Amino acid sequence: MCGVLLEAGHHVVCVDNFSTGLERNLSDLRDFSTFSVIRHDIVDPIDLEIDEIYNLACPASPPHYQADPIRTMRTSVLGALNMLDLAHRRGAKIFQASTSEVYGDPHIHPQPESYLGNVNAIGPRACYDEGKRSAETLFFDYQRRHGLRIKVVRIFNTYGPHMRPDDGRVVSNFIVQALSGKDITIYGDGSQTRSFCYVDDLIRGFHLMMDSADEVTGPINLGNPGEFSVAELAAMVIDLTGSRSRIVQMSLPADDPRQRRPDITRAEMQLGWRPNTALRDGLVRTIAYFDKVLSTENALQVR
Ligand code: UDP
Repeated sequence: MCGVLLEAGHHVVCVDNFSTGLERNLSDLRDFSTFSVIRHDIVDPIDLEIDEIYNLACPASPPHYQADPIRTMRTSVLGALNMLDLAHRRGAKIFQASTSEVYGDPHIHPQPESYLGNVNAIGPRACYDEGKRSAETLFFDYQRRHGLRIKVVRIFNTYGPHMRPDDGRVVSNFIVQALSGKDITIYGDGSQTRSFCYVDDLIRGFHLMMDSADEVTGPINLGNPGEFSVAELAAMVIDLTGSRSRIVQMSLPADDPRQRRPDITRAEMQLGWRPNTALRDGLVRTIAYFDKVLSTENALQVR
């Protein structure tokens, strides 16, 4: 996101506590004199001279956000509050990265924004789902109470270069396993579905959303409607990497949604946005990225 904004001529202050993000992902941006980085956790207030805020904070991978669920909730709720207060003080426009997880294990398929969801409030995913739901509530209350200009998007499964090899989500897991000849771990029978959006498509959607008319508040779904089962994804990764990894089945995590696919009519109508990277093409680029990262890591270990 920072790169796209810098290329578009903005001054960008990146605020990150690097709890899951990698500082090395920013190294290419250091050449911009219009770029600065502040190591800070938005659970604590911060004051900055800004006119737009993208609140993208919070780990999004289930093993990462479940590792410290109370901190996850704090990040989503207190983080949103602090960013909303900052936007209010500065008169800034504010963007919220919400999630398809607000739909929980959906009974309506595909999911339109009008669907109110099916979330288990006390399960292991709730820290993320309910945290993000509360953040949405805060955004709309600040809009109604204080007239804030808000932009809320609900992000569906996203993947691409610059993910961590140990991110733990399905696309990076399968690619890293395939490239290193390890077993490919399908949780459950692999019939559950997801719709995978390539990161560049998503970022383009963020930018369009921020620049849209003030009446466009969202929530707006951003995701790729191409739907695949986890087993189909595994087969595609094996095919594209030429891997000889075996597929093994492991137990399905609690509350794992059965199916997920965005209805993107609203994004098409209000933003003129739709993704244009097919899963296969996005996977080829992501595999090339991980191939490079893993070869570098292996070379360092051998030395
Ligand atoms: N999954 C899997 N193997 C893995 C990681 C995930 O089969 O190594 C499954 C997971 O159970 C879920 C789907 O892949 O059904 C997507 O999981 P992910 O953690 O990427 O995102 P989620 O949509 O569940 O937040």
